[in-house]
Amino acid sequence: MGSFALFFALLFIVFAALFRERLKTTLAEQSQDDLNEEWAAMKGGYLQIDRGVQPPGSPEKAFWNYDETDPDESRTVAEIKSLYLIAGADGHVITDDESGAPAVSTAYKDLGIDRPADVERRFRDVVASGKPNAAVFAPRRNSDGERFLIRSGIFYDLGHNLTGHKLPFYVAIGKPLEHDDRTLHEFTLVFVGVIPGALVLGSLMGWFMAGRALKPVLSVAQTAQRISGSNLSLRIPTRHAGDELDYLILTFNRMIEGLEASFQQIKQFSTDVSHELRTPITGIRGQLEVALFTAKTTDQYREAMFNALQDIDRLSQIVRALLLLSQAESGQLTLQKSRLNLGEIVKDLVEEFQIPAEAAAVRLTADVPEDCFAGIDRVQIERMITNLLSNAIKFTPENGSVRVRLRSAEDHFEIVVEDTGCGIPTEYLPHIFDRFYRVPGSGTAPGPEQGLGLGLSFVAWIVKAHDGKIEVESSPGKGTRFTISLPLTDVPADALEPERQPAG
Ligand code: ADP
Repeated sequence: MGSFALFFALLFIVFAALFRERLKTTLAEQSQDDLNEEWAAMKGGYLQIDRGVQPPGSPEKAFWNYDETDPDESRTVAEIKSLYLIAGADGHVITDDESGAPAVSTAYKDLGIDRPADVERRFRDVVASGKPNAAVFAPRRNSDGERFLIRSGIFYDLGHNLTGHKLPFYVAIGKPLEHDDRTLHEFTLVFVGVIPGALVLGSLMGWFMAGRALKPVLSVAQTAQRISGSNLSLRIPTRHAGDELDYLILTFNRMIEGLEASFQQIKQFSTDVSHELRTPITGIRGQLEVALFTAKTTDQYREAMFNALQDIDRLSQIVRALLLLSQAESGQLTLQKSRLNLGEIVKDLVEEFQIPAEAAAVRLTADVPEDCFAGIDRVQIERMITNLLSNAIKFTPENGSVRVRLRSAEDHFEIVVEDTGCGIPTEYLPHIFDRFYRVPGSGTAPGPEQGLGLGLSFVAWIVKAHDGKIEVESSPGKGTRFTISLPLTDVPADALEPERQPAG
């Protein structure tokens, strides 16, 4: 702030000094022009120096030829005569014919009449320079110290003298510089008096405005400081000014919103994980305690151990699934895409699932074209279809049916898995892809058979990793349809699966 004020002060001073110099030159040029104009008017005929008419040989006089009734001419002559001197080559002041007095004004006398010796020197100099018409300007001061500009030069008479030649005379006219000096003086006063005031005022205003402009920034910073993991719900109010700062606040709020959502997800996840792990752990503990205190026979011990092992299986299943899911979501699990016949994969899986389908008395059919090649990750796509098929069979009652369809379009293919099962109520649909989410009352009772609620989270990740889309339609009691569309991104034909390369 201080350096800015100093910079502007310096800038002002330099600017004002330059301007003052320019003003001074312009005023001086103006004064010279005025005097040149008066000089031209004299030469043009207003002034004539001639010998007195009577008697012959009488001294030269200055005659003023102008129309006294013309205000312009009278004024010009009056201006010239306010400060003038007409002298002969020897320095003696000649007579003014109009007044009959010496041709020198009172104001000029006050400046000091040029000494004859000086006038004589001027004539010598002019003759030596060879420029008789050259104008000479010189500043002079009167007894009060006021400044004047004097233009002097050589003026020739009409030649009616005894020599028969035109004789040179010394003429000087002048102009008070008082007005110019006053203008300059006023400028300096304004400069010295007003500019420092303006600078101080400007600095104060700048300081005030900068403070006002920075206030919202300060509030953003203060809010940011108050935000921590526990109060991510804080938002900075926008000022509705529609400016860059509002945009910053908006961006900041959006960032906090994203952070809050992630935090919430992580919190929910840890709660879910501890909850999921607690059930089998409690089970194991219960089994072992019962065995310890009540079991007597080997069979009783064996049964307790068998049950505990089942719970441990479920525990490791959960831990494995969680590990895989977290690897997938943190980007550690990368797809190994190769050019594969998706039709064949789907057909093989449907074949495999005929056994559990038969066990559940569910009809499982497939409608799959022979060739449907695409760049996909076999393991993940198999996992995706397996999850969907096992869900469909699990949630479809006896005598129901499950149908798998594969269709390929121009730039994508579609896998549809539909069943005539219990369906999912609309209000639960948005959550089924969440981790550990199970639709309440969806048939399977809590226990070892209950799903982990992680299957569809995987499906969603696999679809996303293949740049695809998944949609679900369901009507409770009638059935559910999952539609997955995956882009037909082809990988180079040589990117075949290493372990499944065709023999020939
Ligand atoms: P789970 O291991 O419980 O199957 P998922 O993530 O695969 O977990 O599925 C989440 C929930 O979505 C299931 O618990 C079930 O309530 C519901 N669901 C999934 N597929 C179907 C389906 N085909 N029919 C009815 N409900 C389904």
